[in-house]
Amino acid sequence: MSPFLPYGRQVIEDDDIAAVVDALRGEYLTTGPRVAQFERALAETTGAKHAVACANGTAALHLAARALNLGPGTATIVPAITFLATANAVRLNGGDVIFADVDPNSGLMRPQDLAEALARAPGETANAVFNVHLAGQCGDLAGIRAIARDHHLRIVEDACHAVGTTYTSHNTELCRVGDNSFSDLTCFSFHPVKTIAMGEGGAVTTNDETLARILALDRSHGMTRDTADFVQPDEAFGDDREAYPWYYEMQTPGLNYRIPDILCALGLSQLKKLARFANRRRELTARYDRELARLSPHVTPLARTPNVNAAWHLYVALIDFRALHTDRASVMRKLASQGIGTQVHYFPVYRQPYYRDIDPQLTLPGADEYYRRTLSLPLFPSMSDEDPARVIDALATALKL
Ligand SMILES: *Cc1c(COP(=O)(O)O)cnc(C)c1O
Repeated sequence: MSPFLPYGRQVIEDDDIAAVVDALRGEYLTTGPRVAQFERALAETTGAKHAVACANGTAALHLAARALNLGPGTATIVPAITFLATANAVRLNGGDVIFADVDPNSGLMRPQDLAEALARAPGETANAVFNVHLAGQCGDLAGIRAIARDHHLRIVEDACHAVGTTYTSHNTELCRVGDNSFSDLTCFSFHPVKTIAMGEGGAVTTNDETLARILALDRSHGMTRDTADFVQPDEAFGDDREAYPWYYEMQTPGLNYRIPDILCALGLSQLKKLARFANRRRELTARYDRELARLSPHVTPLARTPNVNAAWHLYVALIDFRALHTDRASVMRKLASQGIGTQVHYFPVYRQPYYRDIDPQLTLPGADEYYRRTLSLPLFPSMSDEDPARVIDALATALKL
């Protein structure tokens, strides 16, 4: 029997291992030279001016919420189909979350969904929107920005699925996810299941130098040793006007969300492979699309955004289980018995008990409809050319199609 196919997994090669071993033999295990090297490489890859690496994607989102002061008395729009961390990043900082609906066929927040969510912001003006590039593709970024501008919203992209994704905007200019053409900040995750792996790892990119400085300070306790930052010269400098060698200063308390040098060694090595991994994900996605066509209309791929060249993180099939007189759990179990792992991305976050308690009346029909049909099939670069056909054959059998 063929080896078990999980829905996603990392690809670690000998040179990745050698890079990590090299870091382990070096001077620094925590913040060393590879952190800044990784940040430079990521900024170059994404086309952003600045990249701030941090502990994981959740930390990246939390740092973003803090840098934009999304605390008590603020409201942030978050699409209902995402991982918990997108909404929690705002809540953990004391800001309110207003969930937006999504397109039932792509899982992406549309401009009209953002407008509808804004109309629900009760007696308060919203401050920001966290947009999510589900499965690796982005939606109508220009449309989202137009509404955000009208309402003076800051824009954060949750691009944890979308490193390597490119798109052309209406003026046909080629943009890269992370270059912040349509946003203030972009957050990435380098969890092993994502497109490049660091074990745990994350980053925020921005073109705003002030935000980049805030993010970098907040990542490490809010402490600075840069003499130009010091606001207490009497405490900082001796009679010779030299800063005391032990002195550091903290003007706003921060966190320890640092990423170790060891993991940046892995990230640097993996980042070199991003184009190869992304292209392989696109090839496998094209194979899935061809195979899936014969299961139409009850099984369809995600609706695609024109002009987006996604570095697919997930291969999502939308399955009308009801029309096929079956249910998702039994299909997942049948596939698992055939050595095929699947997953659901995601249960609508607004239906989690914590958020239900905050807004028990809310229903978001697009998100619910998306959730009813979604199933993520195996997708990772080391899958074989034949795997998509094997998966779709097994799916067709499980669905009695
Ligand atoms: C993975 C993920 C996160 C969190 O990233 P971690 O690195 O696991 O903390 C946030 N948002 C989305 C959409 C994700 O897929």
